[in-house]
Amino acid sequence: QKILLGLLFFTGSLLSAQDLPPEATEFYEPVPPKVQAKAVTTPPPSDAIVLLGKDADTKEWVSSSGGGPVEWTREGDVLTVKPGAGAIRTRRTFNDVQLHVEWRSPNEPDKEGQKRGNSGVFFHGRYEVQVLESNGSDTYTNGQAASIYKENPPLVNATSVMGDWNSYDIIFTSPIFNDDGMVVRPAYVTVLHNGVLIHNHTEIRGTTPYIGLPQNAAHGKGPIILQDHGNPTSFRNIWIREL
Ligand code: MG
Repeated sequence: QKILLGLLFFTGSLLSAQDLPPEATEFYEPVPPKVQAKAVTTPPPSDAIVLLGKDADTKEWVSSSGGGPVEWTREGDVLTVKPGAGAIRTRRTFNDVQLHVEWRSPNEPDKEGQKRGNSGVFFHGRYEVQVLESNGSDTYTNGQAASIYKENPPLVNATSVMGDWNSYDIIFTSPIFNDDGMVVRPAYVTVLHNGVLIHNHTEIRGTTPYIGLPQNAAHGKGPIILQDHGNPTSFRNIWIREL
């Protein structure tokens, strides 16, 4: 996969990213081995900002496109994607963070791959840690649950069975750009999925688009975004610590 990616980046410098079909950045091997694990519910520590807590209050969030109120479904402490309502983003912006998020895939046995329980957690609104039902359904490995989308697959597949909760504990280190807008230190991410280490200080090569190669336009602080990919994926107990 590394060699293929190297080739891709080489040809990517010759072609514009738009010339690449989506499949050019989808890899199927090696398949991360499955590990059985359960969501770890960690209450927010005292210095955390609670992004989603009691009664799924969405005061920390707005609609990602227009900045209007969140139209997702609230039930108890759970917030569920309302397909078609669009992504949501935090009002606050962040750089380096520790993020805890719990998510649950909807019951969609008739769907497969990228169409089953797809959502995502984006840092700076542009680097996606994938949310997907990857326990009972396969897809390209760098697009399965907990992958850095279209970049790195997880070390192992710790996804809960469909309908059970998952937890992500993510330590995100932002990229640093120089005055010319060049990356002088890439972004790094460490992720525990259901308490299992699945990215260990993994380099992020740039943005995580469906089509094309990672891009590296300079940016400052950015929001956390939760994706609407057309599936009623649920979230609860989201908190963040600025590092
Ligand atoms: Mg996604």
